[in-house]
Amino acid sequence: GRGRWAPGRRGGEKGARDGRRPRVTVDSSKAKTSLEALKISLRQLRWREFPFGRRLPCDIYWHGVSFHDNDIFSGQVNKFPGMTEMVRKITLSRAVRTMQDLFPLEYNFYPRSWILPEELPLFVAEVRMMKDSDPSWKPTFIVKPDGGCQGDGIYLIKDPSDIRLTGSTQSRPAVVQEYICKPLLVDKLKFDIRLYVLLKSLEPLEIYIAKDGLSRFCTEPYQEPTLKNLHQVFMHLTNYSLNIHSGNFIHSDNVNTGSKRTFSSILCRLSSRGADVKKLWSDIISLVIKTIIALTPELKVYYQSDIPAGKPGPTCFQILGFDILLMKNLKPMLLEVNANPSMRIEHEQELSPGVFENVPSPVDEEVKVAVIRDTLRLVDPQKKKRKDIQFLFWRFVSAFFGETPLERQNIASSKNEVNVRCNYLMCYRCQTLEPVSEAKEELLEAGPADRAECDTPQSPEAELPSLCLKQVFPKYAKQFNYLRLVDRVAALFIRFLGVKGTTKLGPTGFRTFIRNCKLSNSNFSMASVDILYIDITRRWNSVGIDHKESGMCLQAFVEAFFCLAQKKYKSLPLHEQVASLIDLCEYHLAALDEKRLVCGRG
Ligand code: ADP
Repeated sequence: GRGRWAPGRRGGEKGARDGRRPRVTVDSSKAKTSLEALKISLRQLRWREFPFGRRLPCDIYWHGVSFHDNDIFSGQVNKFPGMTEMVRKITLSRAVRTMQDLFPLEYNFYPRSWILPEELPLFVAEVRMMKDSDPSWKPTFIVKPDGGCQGDGIYLIKDPSDIRLTGSTQSRPAVVQEYICKPLLVDKLKFDIRLYVLLKSLEPLEIYIAKDGLSRFCTEPYQEPTLKNLHQVFMHLTNYSLNIHSGNFIHSDNVNTGSKRTFSSILCRLSSRGADVKKLWSDIISLVIKTIIALTPELKVYYQSDIPAGKPGPTCFQILGFDILLMKNLKPMLLEVNANPSMRIEHEQELSPGVFENVPSPVDEEVKVAVIRDTLRLVDPQKKKRKDIQFLFWRFVSAFFGETPLERQNIASSKNEVNVRCNYLMCYRCQTLEPVSEAKEELLEAGPADRAECDTPQSPEAELPSLCLKQVFPKYAKQFNYLRLVDRVAALFIRFLGVKGTTKLGPTGFRTFIRNCKLSNSNFSMASVDILYIDITRRWNSVGIDHKESGMCLQAFVEAFFCLAQKKYKSLPLHEQVASLIDLCEYHLAALDEKRLVCGRG
């Protein structure tokens, strides 16, 4: 009808024929509890929301739970496959432990942990040994069920014999962890920090951290754990979902007070007490990067299984919630990583006893809307297209004019013009290259407020605050790349997986790996290779969560790889043994590829 095609009601929108950009489309039909914050963000960006999904592909799919909420074949999804599995308490503890084996000092930001029930005997033995060597050590431990959240099923113990092995907990795997007894207190209360981290891309690794987060407070003054107070959850657990039910919970519209505050308000407080806030931030950044480095190897295995390389498929990004506890000496300690951090911007309030109502929470809104909006700005597909075109145009200009210093100067002076031309080209592309029928259908699907196809001449970017997300990787890559050894082991593992879509390596794949990397010799026969494979695989499959596929999982391969490295390079520290073996394998594989290339050409 006429109304649908009429020139814009907002600020002179006239549609694609004006050469303005088509708006980014977002499918929010699976956004669940993040829907409210997402809607506000999209309004601020003036992007197009499809709350009930869409027949045509969207640019971005916003999922509330996991990558698999919907079958997606193009565009970008706000979840990585396998992330939920990766950040479960047991998987995270295992991944961090592998890194602690290689780099114990670098990974001392995660409390010592044991996996139950399989490591119960080890836990008992190690605690006994430590107590024997230091009788003044009076530890407390925290037991957390695997896959639990919101403090569910968590309890504190003073001795390994206090672990509840009866009833449902026996069958429920858990992590037992050293309890941090001396946390930093504010107003005599324990609190933790929820920081939002954007994993923008896995390959190449790109990480952003939100400049502000939330601090969630306990509601009973803190005392170091004693047998008497071990059960007082409002004193020891900072979970919002628990403390909200305490009579002492303070709702506040002010970001500096109440039981939930912004992290920046805490930093101001600390800074006024003379604390080195810069150092604290740099420690937090380092904790985040190192944790993600521990997660990426297995994530890559999941990724290639769900989105095989070379086939059309979506790309992924994800907002993660990092829960961090500050120790009295300001050292940040990682508690856990959430794949689905709550993006609710309202909270429950008890109006009268037993009567709850959802009311807006300004603190949540301030932090969370900014995180979602700026994530979208960073993954904006149109910015990427413009960058690509600018890059191609620049390559063309460089190739055409050459690159002597004088010429470079000339090029620099014409660079602005090139950018202007690129923007023009971009707009031109928008008008002409979109298949006409598709563009028409987009318009027909648009609601009354969504008629215009393109942005207003004044881009919404100009009206938005600067990005709240700060890039930390690759910005600080140089300082952390040496830690990415398991990533390289995972690349070897993926190479030998063979059939796309699997996550486990069969015995033939393992043998081919050994053969191609020339790792077997008179001291290490192929029969020993098979025994190593069977031994390690069987053990991992008996403890693993994933019994769907048979074969060797990545962690088992990593263990086998460490074994081989120790055998080959006896006297070196473990990380050097592993690095040397990786170098050797990569060398042999590169030579093999070269040979195949030459043979292929021949
Ligand atoms: P959940 O996923 O159930 O919230 P967490 O690991 O976040 O589990 O633990 C819940 C709360 O328990 C944390 O918010 C924190 O207050 C407290 N906590 C967890 N681990 C430790 C620890 N090692 N030392 C001290 N407090 C801890």
